[in-house]
Amino acid sequence: AKAAGGNRYELADADSDARAIARHDLTNCLPAALDNGEFFIEYQPLVRLHDGTVRGAEALVRWLHPVHGVLGPDQFIPLAESTGLIVPLGRWVLQEAARQARAWRAEGTCEGPMRVNVNLSPSQLRHPSLVADTVAVLDSSGLDPSALCLEVTENALIGADEEELRPLRQLADLGVDIALDDFGTGYSNLSYLRRLPVSTLKLDRSFTRGMQCAPADPVDVKIVEGIVSLAHTLDLSVTVEGVETGTQAEHLRILGCDTAQGWYYARPGPPERLHTLSLVDAAS
Ligand code: C2E
Ligand code: CA
Ligand code: CA
Ligand code: CA
Repeated sequence: AKAAGGNRYELADADSDARAIARHDLTNCLPAALDNGEFFIEYQPLVRLHDGTVRGAEALVRWLHPVHGVLGPDQFIPLAESTGLIVPLGRWVLQEAARQARAWRAEGTCEGPMRVNVNLSPSQLRHPSLVADTVAVLDSSGLDPSALCLEVTENALIGADEEELRPLRQLADLGVDIALDDFGTGYSNLSYLRRLPVSTLKLDRSFTRGMQCAPADPVDVKIVEGIVSLAHTLDLSVTVEGVETGTQAEHLRILGCDTAQGWYYARPGPPERLHTLSLVDAAS
């Protein structure tokens, strides 16, 4: 047993070496990847729960690595964040997503004005050119500020003072929507919510899970009910993520959530997919 344990230890060790090398490799080729156009964006629709129409889509970045194939953001965003590449990469995502949203709008891709959601990492949030970059992207794409929603995680904002919140407030004043992503996973001080320039709470997937069964988990129901009522009192809209079944969607609709996102509606996919989706909606 001892030998086996020793073996396992060695295996685990070799494994973490392999991971370290991979991390090192990926970090080295990140900057060139941006120049080589190896990043692409998939879009996942955001659906209005009350009538099932598409109101927009979240931009989710992927890396088509020449050797490793398609890598998900969890495999490289942390590296990009720690090396500072997240700033130019994030700028590219914003630019590309804004251009796409403008094109959707011109094509009349969905019922009412199509919006696009873009994730902001903590270093982008702290970067002095955030407001100027965003304004420049809106100008060059011709996208209306109200068609853009920037998603910021709750953890990135916890503890931020007025000074640190100023860039977000400026963007909100310009008409950009700010969403609090992964809401409910941090140690939310709810009174803090009043001070944030946010217009949407994006409820973390962990809350959606309790809605899988019928009847739904009574504790999760109470929690979601409480969050929705608080959010609506503060004039915030509630988006739920990770909706995988019709049962979940129905529970969350009844609980008063406004918008939903998840595999039940569509997995993230190429921008053209939004077009077919909304045509289907329009036809039904
Ligand atoms: P997130 O912002 O919370 O995005 C939602 C994640 O949940 C996405 O993972 C999405 O593909 C996944 N998802 C959507 N519907 C379902 C569902 O029904 N069930 C399950 N199990 N999962 C679902 P993805 O694309 O792997 O992205 C992971 C995270 O990477 C994102 O989490 C976001 O924090 C980050 N990320 C993605 N794109 C960007 C970006 O352009 N910039 C930055 N800074 N971060 C990004
Ligand atoms: Ca997000
Ligand atoms: Ca999220
Ligand atoms: Ca998440």
